[in-house]
Amino acid sequence: MLPSTQAGLVFNIQKYSLHDGPGIRTTVFFKGCPLNCLWCHNPEGISPQRAIVLLESRCLACGECRSACPLPAASEDCGFLPLRLADCTLCGGCVDACPSGGRQMLGATRSVAEVMAEVLKDRVFYEDSGGGVTVSGGEPLRQPQFLLALLAACRREGLHTVLDTTGFGHTRHLLAAAAMADLVLYDLKVLDDARHRQLTGVSNKTILANLHHLDREHRNIWIRMPLVPGCNADLRNLQQLAGFVRDLRHVTLVNLLPFHRTGIDKFARLGMTHALDGVQAPSAELMATAVSIFHDAGLEVRIGG
Ligand code: SF4
Ligand code: SF4
Repeated sequence: MLPSTQAGLVFNIQKYSLHDGPGIRTTVFFKGCPLNCLWCHNPEGISPQRAIVLLESRCLACGECRSACPLPAASEDCGFLPLRLADCTLCGGCVDACPSGGRQMLGATRSVAEVMAEVLKDRVFYEDSGGGVTVSGGEPLRQPQFLLALLAACRREGLHTVLDTTGFGHTRHLLAAAAMADLVLYDLKVLDDARHRQLTGVSNKTILANLHHLDREHRNIWIRMPLVPGCNADLRNLQQLAGFVRDLRHVTLVNLLPFHRTGIDKFARLGMTHALDGVQAPSAELMATAVSIFHDAGLEVRIGG
């Protein structure tokens, strides 16, 4: 049996989630992702390390964070500490000292037992709604032992399980995790490999090959496709992806996820720049076209998660 003492790095445990599989769910977000999609709405999940963020609207400029920091550079100025202080050890002293929650640590090490204690508080909601637990990220396959132990613990409790993955990982990890998931949410973005590299930072060869492996082993796969104008929402890409998915046997649903700008503020909080500053959500007309392309390929399609 996989141990419940197994631990991993998590950046959020989101309750009452309605967009990560059927029913009411708790979504556990694993930290660390090998992709770097230009439209990412969870940039805090990309780095596999913990990180400090500053919510400027909450900051009182009291300087408590600076006083708590043991580094010599902290006492060289006043006001709030900069996010990227040289030699920062991520000790968390400044976060603990902050009286307003303005300075926060992203990412915490959690054992399977700790995550399960949180997850099980909402069992009644799962049972009433046909929901359960979704493991997402970041990319869950980056922490395979933690992922397998968590899914196994959910199974022991009889909870419905969903794996939400980019598919970019070792095939054996994907198949082992999928074997313990009732449903797999599998992201597809662009079929052209060169374009995929430009938009996500990685080749799609592993992702496409893994999807074929998964399709041979699993009976319930939902394809999740973000639609981002100027990136992947052109007719050619939509038609190529619809053709690719049509040839799989066990895709039960395609989710088209319109780009939204809610992740953009997070980039600033993390001291990162968002590459799609001027991009807007896709029009209703574009969404209708995308739906008809996948529908005409004989696929069940839904807008949203
Ligand atoms: S995490 Fe520790 S070392 Fe880093 S800025 Fe905060 S108090 Fe200083
Ligand atoms: S302790 Fe918190 S509120 Fe005070 S300056 Fe630092 S971040 Fe701002």
